[in-house]
Amino acid sequence: MNDTVKYLLDESRIPKAWYNIQADLPQPAPAVLHPGTMKPVGPEDLAPLFPMALIQQEVSLEREIEIPDPVRDVYKQWRVTPLYRARRLEKALQTPARIYYKYEGVSPAGSHKPNTAVAQAFYNREAGVRKLVTETGAGQWGSSLAFAGSLFGIDVQVFMVRVSYDQKPYRRALMETYGARCVASPSGETQSGRNILAKRADHPGSLGIAISEAVEVAAQREDTKYALGSVLNHVLLHQTVIGIEAQAQLELADDYPDVIVGCTGGGSNFAGIVFPFLGAQLRGGKTVRVVAVEPAACPSLTRGRYAYDFGDTAHLTPLTKMHTLGSTFTPPGFHAGGLRYHGMAPLVSHLQELGLITSTAYHQTACFEAGVQFARAEGIMPAPEANHAVRGAIDEAIKCREEGVSRAILFNLCGHGHFDMQAYIDYFGGKLKDVDYDQAELAMALAGLPSVPEPA
Ligand SMILES: *Cc1c(COP(=O)(O)O)cnc(C)c1O
Repeated sequence: MNDTVKYLLDESRIPKAWYNIQADLPQPAPAVLHPGTMKPVGPEDLAPLFPMALIQQEVSLEREIEIPDPVRDVYKQWRVTPLYRARRLEKALQTPARIYYKYEGVSPAGSHKPNTAVAQAFYNREAGVRKLVTETGAGQWGSSLAFAGSLFGIDVQVFMVRVSYDQKPYRRALMETYGARCVASPSGETQSGRNILAKRADHPGSLGIAISEAVEVAAQREDTKYALGSVLNHVLLHQTVIGIEAQAQLELADDYPDVIVGCTGGGSNFAGIVFPFLGAQLRGGKTVRVVAVEPAACPSLTRGRYAYDFGDTAHLTPLTKMHTLGSTFTPPGFHAGGLRYHGMAPLVSHLQELGLITSTAYHQTACFEAGVQFARAEGIMPAPEANHAVRGAIDEAIKCREEGVSRAILFNLCGHGHFDMQAYIDYFGGKLKDVDYDQAELAMALAGLPSVPEPA
C-alpha cells in the first residue's frame, strides 16, 4: 500500500472538532438584526427555521466545536481529502512558486458542500425534523443536501434557480436520484415566487429569490426546517475541516502557505480553507496573505457596499451586515452559478473590513482559460466556480515568476466540473461571453438597501 492510501485510511486524521474563528476575532462581527425591531435577533427568532444546535453554533464563541460521531462517520467516506502539490502546473507556468491545492471534489456530490450538508441533516434529525427545504444555484448545494437527507431519513425539497435548472439537468437528476424533489425557482408554489412571476413570467431566477421560496415553505410547518448552503456562521464553521486538514498535511510536507486563494460565492469554501490559518495568525502564528476571488459579474466583495441587508429578495430573513449588491439585484446568467449571490458571508465581510483578507474579481473567460490550463497539467476538471480560485492561484504563481521569488501558494479546488461540461463546450466553441452586471440595476438595488439606525 502506498503512503497516500495509508494516509487516507487513517481515520484519526479526520478532525475531531470544527474551528470557530469567532473565538479569535480582535472585534466581534456586527450583530444580526430583526428587521421589524432593528434589535439583535435572539435564538427564538431563528427557531422556526433552524434547530437549536445550529442556532447555538451561529453565535458560539468557543474555539473548538466537537464534530458529532455520526457526522465524522459519514466524513470518513471521503475525508481526509487529498492535498496535492501541483508540480506539473508549476512546470507549465515555469514558476518558482510551490503550488498546493486541497481537492474537495472527491465528496459524493463533487464539492465541499457535503461537509455542512451532512452536519445540518444530522442536527435536524436530532431535533425531530422530517423535511428540509432549501435553494440551490448550480445544483451543488441541492445535491449535497439531497445526499445528506437520504443518509439521515429526511425529505428534501430544493428550489433551483431557473437558469441553472434549464442549463444543468444532470444536477437535477442527481438530486432526484438521492430522493429529493427539485422545483425551478421562481415557482408557482410560493407567494414569493408568484409575486416575481407576475412581474416577469420568464424571470431567470436568483439565489435571493430561491432562498425566499425555501424560507417561506419552511416557516409554514413545525416539522419542516430550512437549510442554507453558505453565508451563515455555522456553515462556514462546518467547512473548516478543509483548512484544519490542510494545516496537518502541509506540516507533513514541511511547508506553510505564504498566500491562500479561494473563490467566494457566499464565502463558505473560502472560509473553510482560510479560517484555520487566519486563526493561527490571530493567535500569534505566521502571517498569511489571503485572496478571495469572485466573479466580475457578481462582485459583492470588490464592488458591493458594506451594509445591513436582507439575505433574500422577498425580505423574509433577518438583516446581516455584509458586502452586498442589494437583495433585489439579479446577477447576469454566467456559468459559475454557485457564485451568483448578492451578498457575502458576514464573517468574511468583517475580515475584509479588518484588513485581514483581500479580494479580487475576474471575468469568466479568464477563469475558464485558467481551468483548462489546470486540467491539462493536473488532469482534474474544475467546477466553473473553482476556476476562479485556479485563476487567482495561477496569477499569484506568475507574480512569483516575474519577481523571481518562491512562495507557497495554497488554493481550494472546491469541486469538480463533471456536471458542468456544457460550460466548457461553450468556452471551447467561443460562445462564452464576459457578461457585465447592469449598472442601473445595481444602483437601484443599492438605493433600496434598508435603512438601519447606527447603534448607540
Ligand atoms: C456552492 C459552491 C461555491 C460557492 O459557495 P461558497 O459558499 O462561496 O463556497 C463555490 N464552488 C463550488 C464548487 C460550489 O458548489
